[in-house]
Amino acid sequence: MINKIINISHNVSLAKQNGRFLADKSYAFDTVFFLSKFILHNSNNNLFDKQELRDKAIKYTEDIFQLTPGTAGAINYFIETINFLEFSNIIEKSSRNIYKICDREILEYITNKPENAYIFNYLVTYLTFKNDSLLSLFEKFCNTSLIKEKERLVSTIYLAFCEKSVSIQTSGTQWSKQLVKYALIVLGFINGQNEITRELSIKSTRLTINDISLNVAGTRTPVYLPKKNDYLHNFNLDYVKMHLQNYLINKTTIKRITEIFTVSSIAESLADLKLTMLDDKANGVIMNDFEKEQYIVNTVKTRNQSIQRQFRKGLLDHNEHKCPICGFSFENFLIASHIKPYSKCDDTYDAINHFNGLLMCPNHDKLFEGAEYMTIDAKNGEIILSPAVQNSQDFKMLNGKHISRNYIDNERRHYLKWHNAQFLSKK
Ligand SMILES: [Zn+2]
Repeated sequence: MINKIINISHNVSLAKQNGRFLADKSYAFDTVFFLSKFILHNSNNNLFDKQELRDKAIKYTEDIFQLTPGTAGAINYFIETINFLEFSNIIEKSSRNIYKICDREILEYITNKPENAYIFNYLVTYLTFKNDSLLSLFEKFCNTSLIKEKERLVSTIYLAFCEKSVSIQTSGTQWSKQLVKYALIVLGFINGQNEITRELSIKSTRLTINDISLNVAGTRTPVYLPKKNDYLHNFNLDYVKMHLQNYLINKTTIKRITEIFTVSSIAESLADLKLTMLDDKANGVIMNDFEKEQYIVNTVKTRNQSIQRQFRKGLLDHNEHKCPICGFSFENFLIASHIKPYSKCDDTYDAINHFNGLLMCPNHDKLFEGAEYMTIDAKNGEIILSPAVQNSQDFKMLNGKHISRNYIDNERRHYLKWHNAQFLSKK
């Protein structure tokens, strides 16, 4: 899919007349994620009418991003996403308000998970910089840690950007600075760059996922509404790095990911919920708060079950169907046991990764769980028991035994180390 995006968007440039490069809303991958989803959902035979969808898009945007109803500018989320998709050649204008989806597959990819929407934003930005000869300046920007030098490079990029951009009439305006800032933070986030202010000066703090998201507390959010950007909690940086590896400036920290996983993310469920509610509203069905809450609880529950299922499947696919400690092999009783527990996982990747697990019999699963009674040495697979069970008739024979070396590969070792440290801290 990366190659497909590169192919379709190969000619992007700040001088391009149709569509528009990253603007106020479209620089944010979550805007592009949610509004692309809206476009896909509301298109007919790959066509949609911008004017006809206007009111519906406003409602949807206010709901997703928790804007005060009637907020001026809510429509811009929709318009600027359309502009950016047109700029990237994913959609094209066929008449005044009618747009045609040129590549449905890419649009589906973008709306599959928020990470993909970021990957898309990054690639189009990268290509734009490349085609407009700004990329080498950005590389220099990444390769220096001197704040003054970074600021000098940003101002060089800024002037070149203004000169090439058809959207910027005069340089020096706040608007033109914003546009350059957006592009730089989209490129900078995954390359570990510092934060850039509205005035294009550089702070020493690193960019975070919130810096390139729109769903953060902002001036347009009423204070009594807490921001719900749960869908960013599991943002999988390693997944993004792995897919962008050929287009990163800073390539030093790419983790090897051995499996492609598919879990419907919270963001996807949220978008589905809002779209269903809009359709229902049109049909006279209205969900009350309790029903909405139940819907979200059930969505999260379904998601957890789906993760657990895929985790178990991974373990069964890659290991002998028996407990590595005692050889117990009645499959229905074997438990897919997390080494680093699900509740402590940093992201979906950790939760679903079969290397973060072992298939165990119920007794040994219990012994291993929570690192309280037993751990398995990450170095050599040695079983180590806590004093509480060392003298137990049922378990003492295990102490000092080793599980098969086959289980102790580099990736599982990473998780066992975590388990060993927990075990030691509980002594
Ligand atoms: Zn066992």
